[in-house]
Amino acid sequence: MRYATTRAVVLSSRPLAEADRWLTLFTRDQGRIDAVVKGVRRTTSRWGGRLEPFNVCDVVLYRGRSRVTVTSAQLVDVFHHLREDRDALTAAAVACEAAALLFAEGEPEVRAFTLLRSALRAIDAGFAGPALRAPLVLGSLMKLMYEAGYLPVLDRCASCGGGGRALAFSAARGGLVCGECLGDGVPVTPEAIAALRDAVTRPLSELRAAPPSEAVEEALRDLHLLFAYHTGTRLRALRFARL
Ligand SMILES: [Zn+2]
Repeated sequence: MRYATTRAVVLSSRPLAEADRWLTLFTRDQGRIDAVVKGVRRTTSRWGGRLEPFNVCDVVLYRGRSRVTVTSAQLVDVFHHLREDRDALTAAAVACEAAALLFAEGEPEVRAFTLLRSALRAIDAGFAGPALRAPLVLGSLMKLMYEAGYLPVLDRCASCGGGGRALAFSAARGGLVCGECLGDGVPVTPEAIAALRDAVTRPLSELRAAPPSEAVEEALRDLHLLFAYHTGTRLRALRFARL
């Protein structure tokens, strides 16, 4: 079928030719898709602001020989707050950039799509910053990585499988490692381990209300190492934080 209708989050948008844009969409039915939208940069554009990053739209996509084109879009959700608040913007950028890198094109990603939309909603509803210390940001990244199959090992040693006390985090070995298996691991505090576990087990609504902490920042640094190990890319949204 050359035309397809799907619900999508606009992950990013960049200029193309005179009046067009390349969009990266996270669609519920076909995963991540890069698509062209024509005429969107004209001042008289019929698109309005519908296809801005972080918006949720029902889009009609046309699959041509060499590229996909957006032929219509209906706005479903627009998150006003996260455009006005720096921490919310950082949090939304982390979630959208991670989704773009974690999921391939072509596969239905209903659970990951629902999760991303819930994360944007929670971020828009407000949380205590700074973003890099916010349990909601750590939780959004953790849950997206879970959906992509990259959950870190947090309940035993990722190297020997033993139940000894976790002393380090190793991206190459996939999670926490014990004192016998330190190797290339970076030291990890018990508080950061607790933050990582909370990010897996607690729902986004609870993480949104949880207070920011240094332990969360440490946990985010560890999780980002694992993210970069699997995707081969570091998140630009975190580059100023040296994470
Ligand atoms: Zn071990």
